[in-house]
Amino acid sequence: MLRFAPSPTGDMHIGNLRVAILNFIVSKQRKEKLIIRIEDTDIERNIPGKDLEILEILNKFNIEYSQVLYQSGNLKFHQQFGVMLLQNGDAFNCFCSEDDLEKHREDSLKNNNAPRYSGKCENLSIDDIINNENRAVVRMSKSLSSISFNDIIRGYLEFSSDDIDSFIILRRDKTPTYNFACAIDDMLSDVSLIIRGEDHVSNTPKQILIQKN
Ligand code: GLU
Repeated sequence: MLRFAPSPTGDMHIGNLRVAILNFIVSKQRKEKLIIRIEDTDIERNIPGKDLEILEILNKFNIEYSQVLYQSGNLKFHQQFGVMLLQNGDAFNCFCSEDDLEKHREDSLKNNNAPRYSGKCENLSIDDIINNENRAVVRMSKSLSSISFNDIIRGYLEFSSDDIDSFIILRRDKTPTYNFACAIDDMLSDVSLIIRGEDHVSNTPKQILIQKN
């Protein structure tokens, strides 16, 4: 199964069209289906009507697909996987405020360190979690080792656990972030090869970490 996964947050540009065409050609070569997944979980940035505009452009270029899926339709799976990761200790609740995070970021930069999550909420007690009045985001626990993978174009790539960091998988309103929803949906749809923009190379180790857990 191949997938083209545009976000309805802006106009489809030539780079997106290139990715769609490559997915279409490779799906034909491999005799596998191509699905279109509209990644619409960033409610604040979605633009009404962009999904239909994208599908219209794909139709204009005769890019055939077997199905159109809306990522928001899988919300309950994203949340269920989030709970499972929390229960297994592979994710944790984080109550740090935006101000605290920003201050930590500025301090890190001042000291010439790459901004990383401080680890403050990583080992909270059940009481700390239950009695906290604020709503938590859910963060992935830091990987214990580096993550490597083979990219067909770039070859062998390896990312240290420090670079992957304790990234957010569920926002305070418990909607999934891009990396989390994408990793789960690729698993659920049994995607065999991912063809996407090069700007997503640094997201790949995060998505592999989610899938491994
Ligand atoms: N929705 C992402 C984008 O439009 C692409 C995600 C992906 O292909 O993994 O950039």
